[in-house]
Amino acid sequence: MGYSKEIYDKAFKLIADSKKEAERKFSASLEELRGIDTEFYKIELKLAALGSEIIGVAMSGDSKRLEEIQAECDKLNAQKAEKLRLAGLKKPGFYCEKCKDSGYFEGSLCSCVKDVAKRFAYEELSKSLPLNDCSFDNFDLNYYPDSDDKNGNPRKRATAILSLCKQFVDSFPCGRSLLFIGGAGLGKTHLSLSIVREISAKGYGVVYGSAQNLFGAAEKEHFSFSGDSSAEDSLLQCDLLVIDDLGTEFYSSFAASLFYNIINSRMLSGKPTVINTNLSFDELEKRYSPRITSRFIGAYDMKNFIGLDIRQKKALQNK
Ligand SMILES: [Zn+2]
Repeated sequence: MGYSKEIYDKAFKLIADSKKEAERKFSASLEELRGIDTEFYKIELKLAALGSEIIGVAMSGDSKRLEEIQAECDKLNAQKAEKLRLAGLKKPGFYCEKCKDSGYFEGSLCSCVKDVAKRFAYEELSKSLPLNDCSFDNFDLNYYPDSDDKNGNPRKRATAILSLCKQFVDSFPCGRSLLFIGGAGLGKTHLSLSIVREISAKGYGVVYGSAQNLFGAAEKEHFSFSGDSSAEDSLLQCDLLVIDDLGTEFYSSFAASLFYNIINSRMLSGKPTVINTNLSFDELEKRYSPRITSRFIGAYDMKNFIGLDIRQKKALQNK
């Protein structure tokens, strides 16, 4: 599962904090019980006194007294347990019985950490993206003209792309990637966000951003020479990377080699990528070199979006 280090750190912290909080509450309740039930308090005092005595007795080798103390402790512990039970108090166990709160099980991350990380990742994505506004269900095919133009029938094309996106989600991660080409306002971002929403709800680590923001963050990190590579690592290692608006970012030799590295590494490790661009394939080739665009052929399902700008159409209808 490819979440960022911050997400996993937060997940581990939440588990540790929950455990501490449960222990704090239990201690406070015990303190309260001692105040209202003097008998309970006396039992605890007797147990403490026997506990101190037992060391000396064990060292002296007085086995008879040792047995007496043991029996007395058993009796007192049973009385204490009964009092706790009546008060409805239970010593907190592990947050996760499976991994005993270590966070690891059978050599890999335990499901408790993964579950919490999944929740955090989804919350963080939802904070920054309009995930609730974009779904396959509200992708309105009626905005695409159902008549042939020189590029074909926009509605048929959009219907096929929608079904490809659903397939992409259903078979994720199958190793295939998507490249959406087309002008602004043709639904590329809507479908990408719908994919992000579905894939992150499945529990995969998704990184989404404009090429400008994603490459910019990695470039800033690289030239800060801090040794931190978490921005670049997350681009290479997340389960799904969605790059929006490729071609609008500031072009630098760093960005070009980063982009090549992203495409190549993710392809080799079978990690899917979704790319949106307003540039045509020829323009992509000119901007990023055939070395990069040749990678698209074969590993990417390339789709051209056609039709009229939906945002303009919606605005006109609302007037
Ligand atoms: Zn666990």
